[in-house]
Amino acid sequence: MNIHEYQAKALLRSYGAPVSDGRPVMRAEEAKTAAGELDGPLWVVKAQIHAGGRGKGSFKEADAGEKGGVRLARSVEEAAEEAKKMLGRTLVTHQTGPAGKQVNRIYIEDGSEIETELYLALLVDRATSRVSFVCSTEGGMDIEEVADKTPEKILSFSVDPATGYQPYHGRRIAFSLGLKGQQVKQCVKLMDTLYRLFIEKDMEMLEINPLIVTDKGDLKCLDAKMGFDGNAIYRHDDIAALRDETEEDSKELAASKYDLNYIALDGEIGCMVNGAGLAMATMDIIKLKGAEPANFLDVGGGATKEKVTEAFKIITSDENVKGILVNIFGGIMRCDVIAEGVIAAVKEVGLQVPLVVRLEGTNVDQGKEIINNSGLDVIAADNLSDAAEKIVKAVKG
Ligand code: GDP
Ligand code: MN
Repeated sequence: MNIHEYQAKALLRSYGAPVSDGRPVMRAEEAKTAAGELDGPLWVVKAQIHAGGRGKGSFKEADAGEKGGVRLARSVEEAAEEAKKMLGRTLVTHQTGPAGKQVNRIYIEDGSEIETELYLALLVDRATSRVSFVCSTEGGMDIEEVADKTPEKILSFSVDPATGYQPYHGRRIAFSLGLKGQQVKQCVKLMDTLYRLFIEKDMEMLEINPLIVTDKGDLKCLDAKMGFDGNAIYRHDDIAALRDETEEDSKELAASKYDLNYIALDGEIGCMVNGAGLAMATMDIIKLKGAEPANFLDVGGGATKEKVTEAFKIITSDENVKGILVNIFGGIMRCDVIAEGVIAAVKEVGLQVPLVVRLEGTNVDQGKEIINNSGLDVIAADNLSDAAEKIVKAVKG
């Protein structure tokens, strides 16, 4: 689960990390009051979306020469004006994809004078199964590009969970970032704080880009991106409360409410499968037969008829779906339950695209009978390869 920059900065502030003063703004008429509560003489007006690259992004509705999603202002009036311009419009960055994201919240921040922009991140490193620090002197830029062109400018190391964070970790980062004197002390303390926050809140990712040295020579977190482990959210009511459902794919959101493992993809064939392994295999074989899956969907082992109905509705609500493949290997999941769910869903939402059903396993005969007696226009398949071939042929002709 991701949160907005202003929420991440509030968390950082509560742990004592250095961030600027700022005010979130949800409605245009709040902008002037919010900006007026900050000291100036520089204000930064920042679009709040769950994607990076806002500064270099552009609005779909932009006038020629208009700036991106991070704007500097020299007065309260100017700050309020920029906030109003951005609210409600669609910001496209290299992380949003071409569709962009609607800006529903703005963060107005006290502007900082920047001496240097640095990069810092903490993440769960799957290779070492540990938390890793990543830092670079090349802050403010796309870190993927730095990694690609000048990998020697990135320092990365993991922390032994038995000892946890130690001051020498912080010194190592400070020296690699070229920090001096008081800044080294500030860095050691800040890294300690960030590591503690990361562990205590079960984060997956924490990125400060840029971490800056101000004109006064102090460290400050100028941007903040946080991602939390969805499986641990139940332990953190404070984090769960920060969820912004408007930032999530509406189909994925509906799926999460029914406890379905669903991920939207770009292809044309909707898949309903039980078991993550079978779902992966189904996606692979669809690709092998020359088409692309529209989603990953694992309805799980103990799915009810209601859950299957909901899953089917989510698949058919995707306008890119040109055909549906139901591929069930009934173990704990019974084929007759799946069949009933599919039929209930089709009765409710109709069926505008070809449907291939492959059932195998527990109660397979009952399942097939239910489908055959339903009067639905279903293409039956006997095995995985046959099923994939049939749906691809039905869609591509
Ligand atoms: P991102 O583009 O989504 O990563 O948004 P950031 O918060 O990182 O802002 C983008 C860039 O705007 C930063 O790299 C800075 O160069 C600039 N910026 C952001 N805040 C300030 C500020 O307080 N003062 C100044 N001078 N520039 C800022
Ligand atoms: Mn940034």
